Amino acid sequence: MIDSHAHLIWESFEPDIEEVIERAHSAGISAFIHPCVHTRDLLKMEALQKRFPNIFLSAGVHPCDAQEWTDECFDHIEQYKDKLVAIGETGLDFYHKDCAVEIQEEVFRRQCRIAKELNLPLIVHCRDAFEDTLRVLREESVGKGVMHCYTGNAEYSAKFWELGFYTSFSGCVTFKSAGQLRIDAAKIPIERILLETDCPFLAPQKNRGKRNEPSFMLEVCEVIAQVKDLSFDKVNEITVANTSKLFGLNV
Ligand SMILES: [Zn+2]
Ligand SMILES: [Zn+2]
Repeated sequence: MIDSHAHLIWESFEPDIEEVIERAHSAGISAFIHPCVHTRDLLKMEALQKRFPNIFLSAGVHPCDAQEWTDECFDHIEQYKDKLVAIGETGLDFYHKDCAVEIQEEVFRRQCRIAKELNLPLIVHCRDAFEDTLRVLREESVGKGVMHCYTGNAEYSAKFWELGFYTSFSGCVTFKSAGQLRIDAAKIPIERILLETDCPFLAPQKNRGKRNEPSFMLEVCEVIAQVKDLSFDKVNEITVANTSKLFGLNV
């Protein structure tokens, strides 16, 4: 299995990262896409990649930190470009409003252009901003990527798919309160779906409130299997193929 969105350099993993990776491997998760919240994290991410196999790097600046974008971010990305499988996470977050909407959009656009220039998929974070995210992706004609930690409806998922974007489900789809999200997930073809944890955040229902980790992704896979009326193995097989195809992985 592949965790398509894991923040493994997070401080809360520092004391026991080896056990966390060990538990992931025991659970069958053998590869991880590691997104950035800021390009300055790349150094730490690269160090982690050297310690553990199959950690694939993405570079970007999170919409909640968009005000921290500087020219140096271009340099970081340039420096690491041969080691990257994606650009992000980037996007729009109108829920947290940590950063002015105009700045978020400007920094999102810059990263759309970098992704196109480097021919890399874009990892998009979108919270309460589906219409604007769609508009920017269309205007920037970005052709491939993933809507990570998806909380939108099936109609938007289809519009993002038209642009070449997969829909990735995290622990959010397992929450008791997420009945509507599961109804939407059931309508989204499995060929468009990826699985992720977004750890250390958003632990699935059985561990809700705790630190999330890649091994918990099994619960996400189980819920998708239930709503799609497919076997766990089938969901695993297809989502691994989707993830490998999007990020050009050989795992
Ligand atoms: Zn995110
Ligand atoms: Zn994230």
